[in-house]
Amino acid sequence: MSFQFEVQSTSDSARAAVFHTPHGPVETPAFMPVGTLATVKTLDPEDLVRMGATMILGNAYHLHLRPGDDVVKEMGGLHRFMCWDGPILTDSGGFQVFSLAKLRTLNEDGVEFQSHIDGSKRFFTPELVMQIERNLGADVIMQFDHVIPGQSDEASARDASERSIRWLARCLAEVNRLELGPPVPHLKLMRAEPDKTVVTPKYVPTRTGEFAAQLQQQALFPIVQGGIHPHIRRQAAASIASMHDWPGFGIGGLSVGEDKPAMYEMLDVVDEALPRTHPRYLMGVGFPEDLIEGVLRGVDLFDCVAPTRMGRNGAAFTHDGRLNIKRAEFRTDPRPLDESCQCATCSRFTRAYIRHLFIADEMLGLRLLSLHNVHFLLSLMRSARQAIQTGTIEEWAREWLLRFRASPPIEV
Ligand SMILES: [Zn+2]
Repeated sequence: MSFQFEVQSTSDSARAAVFHTPHGPVETPAFMPVGTLATVKTLDPEDLVRMGATMILGNAYHLHLRPGDDVVKEMGGLHRFMCWDGPILTDSGGFQVFSLAKLRTLNEDGVEFQSHIDGSKRFFTPELVMQIERNLGADVIMQFDHVIPGQSDEASARDASERSIRWLARCLAEVNRLELGPPVPHLKLMRAEPDKTVVTPKYVPTRTGEFAAQLQQQALFPIVQGGIHPHIRRQAAASIASMHDWPGFGIGGLSVGEDKPAMYEMLDVVDEALPRTHPRYLMGVGFPEDLIEGVLRGVDLFDCVAPTRMGRNGAAFTHDGRLNIKRAEFRTDPRPLDESCQCATCSRFTRAYIRHLFIADEMLGLRLLSLHNVHFLLSLMRSARQAIQTGTIEEWAREWLLRFRASPPIEV
């Protein structure tokens, strides 16, 4: 078995664990930076290695439309294509089909929609999405699901949740069928000498030729849906868990417009209903306070575009809440973005300099803020892991949240 989840210590629902994948271990709880289009915007894979990222995300919907999953497959799979030889998870595109695409028509077989790029007609079925995710070749692949807005009524939530479970069975059958098929041919990789001028203590991802030459085993994660209706969530979790021995579970359809207490209540419900022996991945949730609340409720993996999207808008996470670097008050501020942050931005640059880059529309500004924000969440989860291991997670979380919430969030 290529995938294993090893729980090392627990404190109530929170746990510190290691999720073993064919491309290496992921220490949890962990934040996974999002590389929707096979790039974590503005960051080089070597930046991600240096800041300790272990698993990153790609998106099946986006990569299918551009450049095409067939192109990615021909280029040796997603790891090789984007020069990342750590674990990758691909989202199935359910969320994008139901949020980004235009003119959707849904039936039991699948969803017809227009590409948001060129308006071309597409039809996604659970089987096709599994083929796309197979071509991309990520370690963890998510099922194709029916995603609904956060405040949907009970009837729509039940309908979408039940359809997602029926589609899950089809995803599993297709994955099994594909795994029995002939091996997927991949490009032979050129070997080259590592560049001696680049100091990368762990490895040089682009030059070692260590990418797997054949497709590894993939772990299909189901997604628990059910809106903000506890009994639907509970039922969904129970029927999914009894259907198959899944390598892990996704929790979807949260942080999509519902209020925070409702989201935390759903996490409590799912925490009770899912087996504690497997990793849980809370999809699309990435604000610091939600990560901590999620960890306390037994969540192991998180992802969100927030750190890079906010970074491009001039907003930085700090231990004292969010900061908008474009504000005039930072014009001659000699401090780093966050005085206790160890990232490559905070250890070198002042707020005054980064503000100047934003005001002058310089690209380095976007990069420095994205770097800081991603590092902030990675290191937040490392601290949470340590607090679980030392049995201090409750106090640590209380103090952290108290300080963070004391400053009002700055909207950007
Ligand atoms: Zn920093």
